[in-house]
Amino acid sequence: MNILVINSGSSSLKYELFDMARREVLTSGLVERIGEPHGMLHHRWRTENGVTDHLDRKVDVADHREALSAVSEVLRGTGTFEEVRRLRAIGHRVVHGGESFQAPTLIDQSVIKTLREVSRLAPLHNPANLLGIEVCLDAFPNVPQVAVFDTAFHQSIPAHAYHYALPHQLYTEHQVRRYGFHGTSHAFVAKRAAEYLGRPLNQVNMITLHLGNGASAAAIARGRSIDTSMGMTPLEGLVMGTRCGDIDPALVFYIGQVTGKTPREIETLLNRESGLKGLCGVNDMREILRRSENNDAQASLALDVYCYRIKKYIGAYLAVLGHLDALVFTAGIGENSPLVRRRTCEGLQPLGIALDAQRNEQTTGAAREIQSKESTVPVLVVHTDEELEIAEQVRDVVAPASTP
Ligand code: ADP
Repeated sequence: MNILVINSGSSSLKYELFDMARREVLTSGLVERIGEPHGMLHHRWRTENGVTDHLDRKVDVADHREALSAVSEVLRGTGTFEEVRRLRAIGHRVVHGGESFQAPTLIDQSVIKTLREVSRLAPLHNPANLLGIEVCLDAFPNVPQVAVFDTAFHQSIPAHAYHYALPHQLYTEHQVRRYGFHGTSHAFVAKRAAEYLGRPLNQVNMITLHLGNGASAAAIARGRSIDTSMGMTPLEGLVMGTRCGDIDPALVFYIGQVTGKTPREIETLLNRESGLKGLCGVNDMREILRRSENNDAQASLALDVYCYRIKKYIGAYLAVLGHLDALVFTAGIGENSPLVRRRTCEGLQPLGIALDAQRNEQTTGAAREIQSKESTVPVLVVHTDEELEIAEQVRDVVAPASTP
């Protein structure tokens, strides 16, 4: 069974085609700078003898429709179009499902209508996701298409955790509440962590830490999300590459007063000029680690603030969960930075969390445990694969209970 996963952004279109039986990526790629000068198409595919090949090509594409045509052309050229013909379904990543979508959903006209309505909750992301859906519905009218939401996994969060202490009308009339994001990643690593522990997912409590360019923590009780650090938008919570995470909300007004910036400019400042980048000028953790090693005070401060915020969330979620079966690190930084893991877990021995220095330094793609003998809580590093999780959820919708 072949499933195509589409992640459509405002100026990019990512795609990945899975052979679900073999859990293998047949082809994948990305069109960037759609509607802008100097567009590029990066394409990877498996050749007949099982080797991965790639090509990078300049493409001038005015919109997502032209981007999809460019992808079709390259699929034909590289002999992978036959695999696309055998498509069983297409999965679309959708950032915000609001309260309307609690699970992956087969797309029809009424779903599209609801998607348009919830788009106002995520004006930066959902319209681009919808574009991808519409273009694929036209190109593959006979293939079932499924929307998979970043917010869906967190729809199990209870009311006391998702309500802001704001006038209730803002919730009833404008759906102001916490939703949480990165749901596919938290769901994926939670499943893999439970498999690693050899226990049923619905019997394990975990804290999952997705530390990529965006970052979020989730408290998972018996397999279900009961709290997460992102809120109504992905701006809340942990320190991120360019997002500030938690701040005093009054700062928005203060920043406006002292800088004369408009609300739109402040939104950009908090989303794109803050976080690690705001603190030290760069958002790439590898660069920050290098600079900090060379005694760059700003980079060291950024690292301190970053790790301290994660530690606070671990403490909070330990209190929320009561009992913890695993602490799980994932995504670019979580999987690859022993130093961030060490700094985050430092001093948590009284709470049952301690790392083994050697295990923590190991680098392997496989799921592994890095806690010391004294640690009562397993600490795991698990590679996340949001596209594969989307493909698995799509398979469960179009072919429930089938083996791949
Ligand atoms: P995205 O949210 O864009 O998918 P990723 O999960 O790829 O992000 O994570 C990107 C982050 O991971 C960057 O800050 C990058 O510097 C960091 N990263 C990648 N490899 C390493 C590494 N070996 N050590 C430290 N940080 C790393």
